[in-house]
Amino acid sequence: MCCTFGDRQDVEWWRSKNLELKLAITEDGRMTDLAGKYKGLPIREARRAILEDLKKNGLLLEQKAIVHEVQTHERCGTEIEFLTRPQWMIRVLDAKEALIQQADKINWYPPFMKNRYINWVENLAWDWCISRQRFFGVPFPVWHCQDCGKFVLAEDKDLPVDPLTDPAPKSCECGSSNLKGDPDVMDTWATSSLTPAINWKWGEKDEMRELHPMSLRPQAHEIIRTWAFYTITKSYYHFQDIPWKNIAISGFVTPPRELFSLPKKLISDLNQGKVSKALLRIFEQNGYPLLEGAQIEVLEKNGRWFIFCETEEASQYFLIRKDSKKVPQVYDGEEEARKRAGGHAKFIKKRGKAKISKSKHGDKYSPIGLLEKYSADGLRLWASSAPLGSDLPLNLDDFEQNKRFLTKIWNAFRFADIHIQGEKPQKPDQLEAIDGYILLRLDETIEYATRYFEEYDYRTARLQIDQFFKSTFCDDYIEIVKDRLYNKDQYSQNALDSARFTLYQCGFHILRLYSPFIPHITEELYQILYRDREGLDSIHLASWPEKLDLVADKEEVLDSGRAFISALYYIRKIKGNRKMSLKDILPSLRISCHPEKKGLFEKYLENLKATGKVENIEFLDSEKKQEARFIVEGEAEEIFEFLY
Ligand SMILES: [Zn+2]
Ligand SMILES: [Zn+2]
Repeated sequence: MCCTFGDRQDVEWWRSKNLELKLAITEDGRMTDLAGKYKGLPIREARRAILEDLKKNGLLLEQKAIVHEVQTHERCGTEIEFLTRPQWMIRVLDAKEALIQQADKINWYPPFMKNRYINWVENLAWDWCISRQRFFGVPFPVWHCQDCGKFVLAEDKDLPVDPLTDPAPKSCECGSSNLKGDPDVMDTWATSSLTPAINWKWGEKDEMRELHPMSLRPQAHEIIRTWAFYTITKSYYHFQDIPWKNIAISGFVTPPRELFSLPKKLISDLNQGKVSKALLRIFEQNGYPLLEGAQIEVLEKNGRWFIFCETEEASQYFLIRKDSKKVPQVYDGEEEARKRAGGHAKFIKKRGKAKISKSKHGDKYSPIGLLEKYSADGLRLWASSAPLGSDLPLNLDDFEQNKRFLTKIWNAFRFADIHIQGEKPQKPDQLEAIDGYILLRLDETIEYATRYFEEYDYRTARLQIDQFFKSTFCDDYIEIVKDRLYNKDQYSQNALDSARFTLYQCGFHILRLYSPFIPHITEELYQILYRDREGLDSIHLASWPEKLDLVADKEEVLDSGRAFISALYYIRKIKGNRKMSLKDILPSLRISCHPEKKGLFEKYLENLKATGKVENIEFLDSEKKQEARFIVEGEAEEIFEFLY
């Protein structure tokens, strides 16, 4: 061996075999004495000079370009050379087992993300190097003795210090005061791994030790091996404890899916199990640059192609429908992807190579452009639609849809405002049946949303809230309550009070349920509609909603409410079938059902007539318990099946 390091393997051999250290390159990139007559030349010039000499002496047999792996700097592409240099390290290799045990004490959301941590720790081959030779950063509070090589540490009370400008607190134990400050700075993770402890003010006068361990670390999946791992490591070393009880790991925004299409030729390549360069290029152009030498596995199963590969950011798994030009699904966890692919899948293994580069997108997709066009609430609403831990493709159609949704919420609340007016509505003596039903559905929604939020599943929580707001509140309730609000003289004071109370309560609860997702529009509506009546300065100071629990006979109210809403739905459908407008009066409707079920509809008879615009409703007895038939002019037009 003429010099010690060509690549990382050499470093490992040098250490494991206790080889002699021979350095051919200096820190400023020039050849050392080892290079003989080439000493002092920069690396590339030395290469040229050596080639010239070989040619001159007739020793060069052939010269041709080859492709091989070279480690380069990620920003400028300059080749990297290994140097030996003292660094500050934190020992982690002998704590692997303990660090894995720490992970078991933490709740991982979603749970499969823990595997990434464990894989990382199990495969660690180096200790943690925390020093960097850069200008900016947190300095090491250390002075080195120039006479004996030992060092002097700063006093706790003097921290923070910059050893390059501040004097050492004392002389070296050898008696020398010839001390020099350490020029290195700490790597980002060396300090960001202390964020929980910094937040509970570790070591400060107003330390809040009771906040340790913290409840939650939110972060994305690409820094599990850095931010999450180092925070767990630091907490273990400093406090013999976990830094937080829970970690919620989100995904990335991926490029618009509509751009990611596969030409026919590639699909036929895939059919033959080929992974071509063109395929790799498509992956890269679409924001999934593959790792150098990435392992690619292609699997066909049930008419779908699964492509397993490692991209620059993380292991990602692609599911492609055979014969489809689009990639409908990207899995970010191996477990999930393999589950989808089926347990006993046979994989065709191929090795692919692709250049690493960052994907580029137009301004159309820049965060600022999206914010300006769709508002902060629109952007948040969209981001909350990704399942926790999964990547979310950028799709402008979703933004348009969310924009319409924000208009819908604004309009629904303006409608409610017109009819609430005056003092905060108090609970009426008797809740109208449909009002009780809606408030029960609201209670259900609060219960589900709370449960999902507690598991950091904000997406499913939002789906529950959406379902209640869009379907139950807007499509059903507002339509039903309109008759009461527009024809006040036909209803009792109690019925009107009940409507005001229900509109008010639903509205205030819906706003609070939505406030984590769309903080601006909910705040605006709160200021206009609720602030004077509720007294709090902001909706974001209000507590998370709790169940109202105002209805005693829950099951009966839910069953009859559902029957009523379904009956309304069928009446509208019948009118549609007969090309009638919803406002047209249907002269007569007969509902044929089992006598036991009749009560469910009868309870709502007047509402059904008023909201459905039906002049006369009659009941016919039927023996069938599981269905109700809606009959107009002797013909059963719609059949409603009871699920209960
Ligand atoms: Zn560089
Ligand atoms: Zn000394």
